[in-house]
Amino acid sequence: MSNHVYQTLILGGGFTGLFTALHLSHQHYPRSVILIDKEERFCFKPLLYEYFSGEMDAQQVRPRFEELLKGSGVIFVKDAVSSIDLVNKQIKLASGTCYDYSNLVLSLGSVTGYFGVEGAQEYALPFRTGEDAIAVDRQLRDRLQQATQIENPKERRKLLTVAVIGAGPAGVEMASTLADLLPHWYEAMGGNAQEIRVVLLHQGQEILEGDVNQRLRNTARKALQRRTVAVELFLGAQVTAIRPDILEYKRYEQSEILEASTVVWTTGTNTNPVIKTLPIPDEHRDQRGRLKVTSTLQLPNFPEVFAGGDCTVDMSASTAPGYQYQQLKLPEQQINSQPLPPTAQVAYQQGATIARNLKAMTLGDHLVPNHVNLRGTLLKLGLEESAANLGDRFQITGEIGHLIRQSTYLQLLPTPIHNLKVTTKWLTEEVFIRYSQSIKTADAIKWVGGAVITAVVARKLLKILTDDDRVIRN
Ligand SMILES: Cc1cc2nc3c(=O)[nH]c(=O)nc-3n(C[C@H](O)[C@H](O)[C@H](O)COP(=O)(O)OP(=O)(O)OC[C@H]3O[C@@H](n4cnc5c(N)ncnc54)[C@H](O)[C@@H]3O)c2cc1C
Repeated sequence: MSNHVYQTLILGGGFTGLFTALHLSHQHYPRSVILIDKEERFCFKPLLYEYFSGEMDAQQVRPRFEELLKGSGVIFVKDAVSSIDLVNKQIKLASGTCYDYSNLVLSLGSVTGYFGVEGAQEYALPFRTGEDAIAVDRQLRDRLQQATQIENPKERRKLLTVAVIGAGPAGVEMASTLADLLPHWYEAMGGNAQEIRVVLLHQGQEILEGDVNQRLRNTARKALQRRTVAVELFLGAQVTAIRPDILEYKRYEQSEILEASTVVWTTGTNTNPVIKTLPIPDEHRDQRGRLKVTSTLQLPNFPEVFAGGDCTVDMSASTAPGYQYQQLKLPEQQINSQPLPPTAQVAYQQGATIARNLKAMTLGDHLVPNHVNLRGTLLKLGLEESAANLGDRFQITGEIGHLIRQSTYLQLLPTPIHNLKVTTKWLTEEVFIRYSQSIKTADAIKWVGGAVITAVVARKLLKILTDDDRVIRN
């Protein structure tokens, strides 16, 4: 395919890529924009647990790119990027199609890393995409169903044991969700809910280490214990091999095994293979191979190429009152020398900067440095339970925390039309239908009022704590 040269390609439609595209559209960017992704659906990863648990559906968490980009002028191509020629400004897709570009946005995210653990790739289930969530769902339902047919207690126990590897945010959220969800599933199949085991294995001595502050860590630890079945926490447990139905790990120099027919792998990320093969020298990458970008989010030797999100490392300043993904005790002057965490909240804000700079470049204006406002930490701690740590100043837990977490994410869901549809659906189901069935009307009114006020207050708080420019939503 031959293309005119004034064309901007966005590779990867995750938080960075999709938001770059939407911002460009909003700014009436004068060049044609093509967004390329190997999937046909965007994945709102922070809400993947809700999708898995059935608290939210595919339309809400995994909307189609075609739908999100309708009317935006951005062309969507569903194909996998196989190689990028930075010198000749051309990319090649798995289908064999080639595209020339005048500007390029690299936003391909990262892939799961298994740290070379034997059998991990073969036998553990990752949890990063919508397809992963579907695969975990299928396997667990299948194992639970099998368990209802098994008389032998040892065999049944194996089928009913789930091991979650890694107690970072993803592992804690996954384990706490499973510890509420699986007992319900199993009971509905006629089984004894208390036979479910959820084991969270972590190499370090502390959960959420370097991710959140001590207060939130304590809240999370308590929440893990309070689930429908308590999560069993194995700290200092280094997983050494995974085989069918068996997990091997080392703890206190002792080799041990855990019989578990399902292993969910939530730890470890690797650089996207396409990014790995770029001819970018080591000094322009970090130790993990991620691309270092300038403060304006360009590649040092290729100013026409912008990059953001998990495939990059960005040392831009953040306005966080405490750097949530680093230890809070860092002296002030060191805070800004830490790379920004690989999170959605960083990625989508980088998308806004990239769009602004692409337009500025086209018009011959000055480019602006990236500046990220870190909101607080929002952690799911089971069904209808979350902790909202707002700007590291306030912590709100339980059901209200859950409402704040969901309403915050609902605000971020891309495009006003999609956002409105989802918010309305969620408020109707979550607040009006479900709660009006389970509690008396007077209580319901009080509760709904409280919840809505809380959500509004949370929005205001977040607005005060950050001066977020949600361009596409105005
Ligand atoms: C389960 C889970 C929960 C999370 N929860 C939170 C949270 O609560 N808060 C938070 O801030 N962050 C959270 N994160 C992290 C956050 O989702 C990521 O930091 C964010 O998605 C990074 O955005 P990105 O644009 O760099 O990459 P992604 O959003 O991963 O998007 C990359 C895109 O590139 C596409 N792609 C990859 N390779 C190719 C290829 N070769 N060709 C074409 N397309 C390709 C992918 O299909 C994908 O659409 C979570 C992550 C996970 C996995």
